[in-house]
Amino acid sequence: MRTVYPWQQSQWQLLQEARNQERLPHAILLTGPQGLGKGDFAETLAQSLLCEHPLATGPCGECRYCQLYQAGSHPDLTRIEPLEGKKAIAVDQVRGLAHFMSLTSQYEQYRAVIIRPAEAMNINASNSLLKTLEEPSAKTVLILVSHQPAQLPATIRSRCQEISFGAAQPEEAKAWLSERLGPDRADLDLLLALADQAPLRAEQLSQDSLLDARMELFNAFEQLGGMQVSPVAMAKTAVNDGAEWCLQCLYSWSVDMVRLKSSAQPPSLFNPDLQGRLLKLGDLVDARQLLKLQDEIAQAKGDLAGNVNPNLVMESLFIKWQNCFRAARRKIA
Ligand SMILES: [Zn+2]
Repeated sequence: MRTVYPWQQSQWQLLQEARNQERLPHAILLTGPQGLGKGDFAETLAQSLLCEHPLATGPCGECRYCQLYQAGSHPDLTRIEPLEGKKAIAVDQVRGLAHFMSLTSQYEQYRAVIIRPAEAMNINASNSLLKTLEEPSAKTVLILVSHQPAQLPATIRSRCQEISFGAAQPEEAKAWLSERLGPDRADLDLLLALADQAPLRAEQLSQDSLLDARMELFNAFEQLGGMQVSPVAMAKTAVNDGAEWCLQCLYSWSVDMVRLKSSAQPPSLFNPDLQGRLLKLGDLVDARQLLKLQDEIAQAKGDLAGNVNPNLVMESLFIKWQNCFRAARRKIA
């Protein structure tokens, strides 16, 4: 039976109470970091809205409406997502929503719309959605999902009830992950630290070979610090592994280096397994430079999202890192 994750209980309760009191908002915006299962929460909520005999914990999973949902053919649910191969949600997709909204429910239950990720709507799509938000239909709930709500127009945000999700409690996250991966895994803490306590992200890390790729990239990064590899070669490796994922690694290393520099006590790290090596590497760059490099990483992320050639983005970033390392080496020498 479909239920929400253990770390989503309070958000679920909030909406359940509103539903019981028939005060459910017309538009709900689910926000929070990636990897916490906001999309699954949206699906559970939608199915529960459609369900004929919803339970306090979620949809019944057995009624005819749940069966329609499970078959992917419930006429009162629609999802708006970027089309295959596209990054943005186009205006035509949202215009189609107006038609859906104008229909009446096929059944007695609620109707639901899931828009995910909401920040993928381009400006025209957002404007079109605004009209829908201004004229809500009875018993229809729009569920927007976003991990970058700051990118949404304020006019949209202000018309939604925002439900935010924070990182899971470490114990809760570990218990869940252990159930998923088996209790014998020795790297649960590491996976969760790398995923910033986002359990679904941690599970994903365990499944693909990303952990190995991360070690390889870190080895190369150390070599960059030792002037043993060129930024161009390093960029090539990074793009092969997935530039966005590499930026995430790089960011977590630089944050850890700052933490190691500025804390007398052993700090909590994203990369506890690399502590000694990060400490050494961090000695080559001062904290101010590290913070500047973190801004550069954020900028690089934006460039990638803006379709700049990933090779160029990564090369220019690694050149900046290498310049910092080189300057520090000169100082030491
Ligand atoms: Zn049901």
